[in-house]
Amino acid sequence: MMARKDYAPLISAVNKAISSISKDEKMKIGHKWMAVRYDNGYSLEYILGIVAISTTIILIILGWIVYLKKEISKRKKLEKELKKLATTDRLTDINNRYKIDVLLEKHIEISRRYERPLSFIYFDIDHFKKINDKYGHKIGDLVLIELASLIKKSIRKSDIFGRWGGEEFLVILPETEKEEAIELAEKLRIAVENHKFNKIKHLTCSFGVAKHRKSDDGQKVIERINKRLYKAKKRGRNRVESV
Ligand code: GH3
Ligand code: MG
Ligand code: MG
Repeated sequence: MMARKDYAPLISAVNKAISSISKDEKMKIGHKWMAVRYDNGYSLEYILGIVAISTTIILIILGWIVYLKKEISKRKKLEKELKKLATTDRLTDINNRYKIDVLLEKHIEISRRYERPLSFIYFDIDHFKKINDKYGHKIGDLVLIELASLIKKSIRKSDIFGRWGGEEFLVILPETEKEEAIELAEKLRIAVENHKFNKIKHLTCSFGVAKHRKSDDGQKVIERINKRLYKAKKRGRNRVESV
């Protein structure tokens, strides 16, 4: 309370009145104006609830991540399998016609652009019809598998091998001069001639070798090399002819 200094009687009356209020009453009046809230912190139940909810959310997120990772790896595997199916010959497990055709054009382009040597070996089994006729188509198939695996083992890792069709195969030899290609073809010819094939025992192939020329596209290369192969057949088979 406030009063003007020159109101002395009022001041003394008010002071008397204030001093007549007991201590308890003064506190009660004071509490009317000041609210004190006592906070005892979070209850254990509340904390456990929060922990349980957070743990559940984290577990759901982790489960989702694991599920997504599995799905991604499953799809990647499937994609890889599909890609392999589209580019691999089902019988011999080497590059199929589609893939070897794509690689042929690709390497011709590289050779042209960087002026690098590029050679090819094309070969065909001799008298394969007779093998089919004598032993049956199934044995013929096994011969193709065995031959492909033998050739695969005999070429360099950088060489590209594929089934051109039927019992005809193509080897693409990047960074290879004609003389080296002839040497490799001769090595393959001898490897086939000396290999003891299951059931049929003896088999030979005829080989055509060509080096890429600047004006060649894939089709021209194959045409040229086919002429060499034809020559090898005409000259008695089981031999290498080059352009
Ligand atoms: P040549 O020495 O003149 O090449 O005689 P060839 O009997 O081998 O004649 P050609 O190359 O024309 O014959 C290919 C034969 O290969 C005809 C076909 O029955 C057989 N052939 C082609 N593809 C397959 C196959 O996937 N499996 C089997 N078993 N035989 C096949
Ligand atoms: Mg043929
Ligand atoms: Mg043949």
